[in-house]
Amino acid sequence: MTATIIDGKKTAEKIRSEIKEYVSGLKKKPGLAVIQVGKNPASTSYVNLKEKDCKEVGIYSKIIRLVEEISEEELVEKIIELNKDNSIHGILVQLPLPKHVNEEVAIDMINPLKDVDGFHPVNAGNFFIGKAGFVPCTPKGVIRLLKEYDIPIEGKNAVVVGRSNIVGKPIAMLLMMNNATVTICHSKTKNLAEYTKNADILVVAVGKPGLIKAEMVKEDAAIIDVGITRTGNLLKGDVDFDSVSKKASYIAPVPGGVGPMTRAMLLENTIEAYNNIERG
Ligand code: NAD
Repeated sequence: MTATIIDGKKTAEKIRSEIKEYVSGLKKKPGLAVIQVGKNPASTSYVNLKEKDCKEVGIYSKIIRLVEEISEEELVEKIIELNKDNSIHGILVQLPLPKHVNEEVAIDMINPLKDVDGFHPVNAGNFFIGKAGFVPCTPKGVIRLLKEYDIPIEGKNAVVVGRSNIVGKPIAMLLMMNNATVTICHSKTKNLAEYTKNADILVVAVGKPGLIKAEMVKEDAAIIDVGITRTGNLLKGDVDFDSVSKKASYIAPVPGGVGPMTRAMLLENTIEAYNNIERG
């Protein structure tokens, strides 16, 4: 069979138009601040896209570009300033930061109420115990895609490849919260295929192009490829799309699958922050 393509671009467009409609009815505009340190080309492209998305839906965006050499103290001061800024409801520090700046220190300084990436320990903790708080954008986008395409989660075997704090772990957590039976695989997993072959839902978030091949997936599985590797102007996922798409029932490709959803979920989290701050 040939898999149905999970179209993240189209789904994200729909979400953006809903947000635009919502924002048009607000007297005070929601505001998102994005801090970029240095000139990492991938980060520049992500930040530009965030600015463009905000513009499209009517969210005020403040892009703060800081020089690579900035000290940790100066960055922290900037974050404190944004915490106090009433026109800003969401603050995002574009990662990675230069080596001399501790990412944890920067993230910990963001007011948890404005932490739209959901990386602050308070939000991560609340999320892991099932309390309200910001859910990281990529994991949220993955679950939204599964739901958008009516892919059943409850009672299914879900396998997540990758265990990072910002992608793999929260995806696994969300799948479990949606009543899947979840297995997490990682760089030390032996015989990866033994696990992936049992997955009704397979989410891959590693960053190794072609890691998952057709013989590693179950017939009719739903495959969500989160991995992004840049080679020149091309983006590659972790899943061998050509072979796997002939065996799976659904596949979220790279590009055009999870990536656009990550951006749309950031806008949604900014609206959530706005509502929490402005409406108590
Ligand atoms: P990371 O480097 O922090 O984590 C990678 C994970 O892969 C680790 O947990 C590691 O144990 C696992 N891993 C490494 N080699 C493996 C192997 N051979 N077999 C099984 N597991 C292996 O990366 P991350 O931040 O979690 O991101 C993962 C991927 O997702 C990257 O390609 C990143 O660019 C991409 N990403 C995409 C989006 C999006 O919006 N689509 C957002 C964030 C990250």
